[in-house]
Amino acid sequence: MPCKICKTNLIYIYNFPTCPKCEHVSLVPYDDAVRISDHLLEKFKNAFFEIVKTFKKNHLLANIFWQREKEMRRFLRRYSTLDIARLSSCTLLLRRVFQMSGFLEQSDVTEEDAIRVIKHMRP
Ligand SMILES: [Zn+2]
Repeated sequence: MPCKICKTNLIYIYNFPTCPKCEHVSLVPYDDAVRISDHLLEKFKNAFFEIVKTFKKNHLLANIFWQREKEMRRFLRRYSTLDIARLSSCTLLLRRVFQMSGFLEQSDVTEEDAIRVIKHMRP
């Protein structure tokens, strides 16, 4: 929107339309503004990671993984028809069975057997 007096394009300062010419506002050239922004972003990023480095790394990773897990669960609960509890039980059971040893290998496993075992893994 142009200024009614000098027809210069208005800029918005704190949501108020302002004429840079009539109000004598100095504007930073685009290339300089980009360089300043990049410099400030880099400075903030470095400061942020300096704070992050003060934490115990494994605790931080575990908590980030947990937040990510909760977000995925929340999404799947809201938008998916998948039975998340059953899927989680299968994943947990697979992991534990892979780690186990000493199977007697005496019985075949029917689908019903597998379903019973999975049900026992449910929280
Ligand atoms: Zn003006």
